[in-house]
Amino acid sequence: MTIKPYTPYYYRPFTLEPLGCDAVTLGHNFKHYLSYHLGRFHGCAPNYIYEALAYTVRDRLMVDWRNTWNTQLEQGTRRGHYMSLEFLIGRAMGNHLLNMGIKTAADQAMLDYSHKLEEVIEEEPDAGLGNGGLGRLAACFMDSCASLRLPVMGYGIRYEYGMFRQYIENGYQKEAADHWLQNGNPWEIERIEYAQHIQFGGHTEHYIDNNGRARARWVGTEDILAIPFDMPVSGYRNQTVNTLRLWKAAATEEFNLDEFNAGSYTEAVQAKNQAEHISMVLYPNDSSENGKELRLRQQYFLASASLKDAIRIWVKHGEFDYQRFAAENVFQMNDTHPTIAVAELMRILLDDNGVEWDEAWAITSQCMAYTNHTLLPEALEKWPVSLFERLLPRLLEIIYEINAHFLRVVSMKWPGDTDRQRRMSIIEEGPVRHVRMAWLAIVGSFSVNGVAALHSQLLRDGLFHDFYQLWPEKFNNKTNGVTPRRWVAHANPGMTALISEHIGDEWIADLSLIERLKSMVPMENKVFHANWHAVKMANKQRLAALVKSDCHVDFDPAALFDVQVKRIHEYKRQLLNVLHVVHLYLRIKHGHLDNWVNRCVLIGGKAAPGYYMAKSIIKLINSVADVVNNDPDVNGRLKLAFLPNYRVSAMEIIAPATDLSEQISTAGKEASGTGNMKFMMNGALTIGTYDGANIEIMDAVGAENFFLFGLRAEQVEVLRHDYRPWQYVEQDQDLREVIDLIRCGHFNPSEPGIFDSILDGMLSPSDPWMTLADFRGYVEAQQAVSTAWQDTEKWTQMSIMNTACSGFFSTDRTMMEYNRDIWKLTQAESA
Ligand SMILES: *Cc1c(COP(=O)(O)O)cnc(C)c1O
Repeated sequence: MTIKPYTPYYYRPFTLEPLGCDAVTLGHNFKHYLSYHLGRFHGCAPNYIYEALAYTVRDRLMVDWRNTWNTQLEQGTRRGHYMSLEFLIGRAMGNHLLNMGIKTAADQAMLDYSHKLEEVIEEEPDAGLGNGGLGRLAACFMDSCASLRLPVMGYGIRYEYGMFRQYIENGYQKEAADHWLQNGNPWEIERIEYAQHIQFGGHTEHYIDNNGRARARWVGTEDILAIPFDMPVSGYRNQTVNTLRLWKAAATEEFNLDEFNAGSYTEAVQAKNQAEHISMVLYPNDSSENGKELRLRQQYFLASASLKDAIRIWVKHGEFDYQRFAAENVFQMNDTHPTIAVAELMRILLDDNGVEWDEAWAITSQCMAYTNHTLLPEALEKWPVSLFERLLPRLLEIIYEINAHFLRVVSMKWPGDTDRQRRMSIIEEGPVRHVRMAWLAIVGSFSVNGVAALHSQLLRDGLFHDFYQLWPEKFNNKTNGVTPRRWVAHANPGMTALISEHIGDEWIADLSLIERLKSMVPMENKVFHANWHAVKMANKQRLAALVKSDCHVDFDPAALFDVQVKRIHEYKRQLLNVLHVVHLYLRIKHGHLDNWVNRCVLIGGKAAPGYYMAKSIIKLINSVADVVNNDPDVNGRLKLAFLPNYRVSAMEIIAPATDLSEQISTAGKEASGTGNMKFMMNGALTIGTYDGANIEIMDAVGAENFFLFGLRAEQVEVLRHDYRPWQYVEQDQDLREVIDLIRCGHFNPSEPGIFDSILDGMLSPSDPWMTLADFRGYVEAQQAVSTAWQDTEKWTQMSIMNTACSGFFSTDRTMMEYNRDIWKLTQAESA
């Protein structure tokens, strides 16, 4: 398909007048969209009310969106590109209303038409284009870049189906398709005129060009069209609107029937279907690689489309001198998922533009930067060479050549060290040869960062040690964060108002100012403390209502809300949490009630559909919950609920209502965590291991305001050589009773044996997660929690202290560090 730009023969510029943002104008505009655009009227289905309001709000982003775009396009402006296979955005409406400062007006406008804004907001489906922390991080980064006026564009895939919807049947996870685009997406703008052709398959040809130089071309390919859809990313009250550009796959020759005889008509249409598969569905694996051909297609589709788009924009607004490309462009790769971009940029420079190898490599390796997100070996991406050969033959040739050049560097530095060459080679040798994507990312990037201090150190000392020895200057740390706009100002309006009343509201745009709240910690601030407590109670009521409707369990807001929500994974150790709940249950049954504190334990999270162990853990949680919640002896002292379909919009209700945040991963396994930061900002206390960003959270808030327990990363590694889990069981009567109660089928009388593999795993000397080793320390830390909880005044002080010390964990700080050390972009002037 060729799309000709429309060029009028004369051009009369016009100005755009900003639209009114008062309640009356918003109301009129809303009515206009509902009736004249959507053709719906009073009494229509509520999703149309949302849609009409979304168009009304989007109109008011347009002028700033255009102005931001034009400003960032000025020649010579250095631009950043954040490439990610995942953007876990959630809902947009409330966020834009907050950022634009028109929430009160929108509230009134809706009331004028007899709608409640909160109910309208609930109609928006979550944009669930990510699995968990990695995808949510990308979304928080976009928010902060816009709020800091950084010229950064997000590039991702517009999955037709996002993260699956989870529901529970007989205690087991079931998956349903998430057709989030079913009713359309009022926030996006399709820009077909910027579609790109993406090549797959075919073969390569080598030839001598007119200048006598050896060149290659990639021919006989099956091309697919990448169509961009733009989503506005508003900054916080700063007239900045950045762009998240998501690619949709489509067939190139939709109905080019010339090439087919009449009988092939349906095959021609089928080709269209095949092409669209690429952007059909998000792979629902968190922290584990997938290995599927379609996934590699998605990765190349994103990398190629985004690079071609960035180059198109740069050529249009630059001076077309490739020597300046790296000075004016930087690409941040969110994990290895988009790493094929290294080879693709080389291909574009070499084949499409005739740049020489050394110059192309200098350009590429000076504009790519890589963020690692995991230490788990099973999460490191490797693609079979044979798959590359078939799907991306020209890219494989380039990777071979990159590797040849690289291995020469290695052998210069360590002559004769063939073992090191084998370890560092981008191609893993063996019965099946693989391309190691993390190695390609490191070799092709000028910056390699981890996402918390411990994680970055473990990368340097362990996984990436060879590369660190070769290029120490590439390695750096960028501790994650979360945006305080969505996670405090939007999610917790009660606390936001209370804080702003005392320290002003500048903290929303600059979270370092939240430390002013420390002045409210001392005892004499009685009224403030009472209000803090009251806000938390109201938030807990809101969560209790959600738990009631979705889990049919009664949570008493007076009890301690003990919460663990995150993807279900063995390394995150939801199992340890369950062991503790069973232990508490046994204490009730034995009448050991001294120092008792009533607890409501909430666990939520999705398991990858093919992850058997994670799914068993969900079944165990639900089975224990059934017994605990229905045993009359328990009598409200303990509740356990599994919240189905954990997602961004659920977290907006959960984090503000949480008293105790569970961050209990096996030390050395959680790269950073960001859930921990959302909870801290909202005044929860943390019980956690010395892992990921927990360490930095504890440093910030002080050990006296944090419940630390468990082995440290280096102890885990030492113990691994001689791990004897049964010894913990023998030496600990409480643990023995917990294991025995699960083993005897107390929680699964009608499905005997279903938890045996869980128990066998924990009792195995090769259990990588060492759950039993941390049981006693965890129980003791939980006892310290109970003791602290009984002193309400003290708890409130610790809660305020957590919020007051959370300033470092804003993604504004994270983005400033990326920009200072890696991107070096110029922040636009404030308007
Ligand atoms: C923050 C968040 C995560 C990440 O949680 P961790 O505890 O850091 O693993 C995952 N999913 C959703 C929906 C989130 O909001």
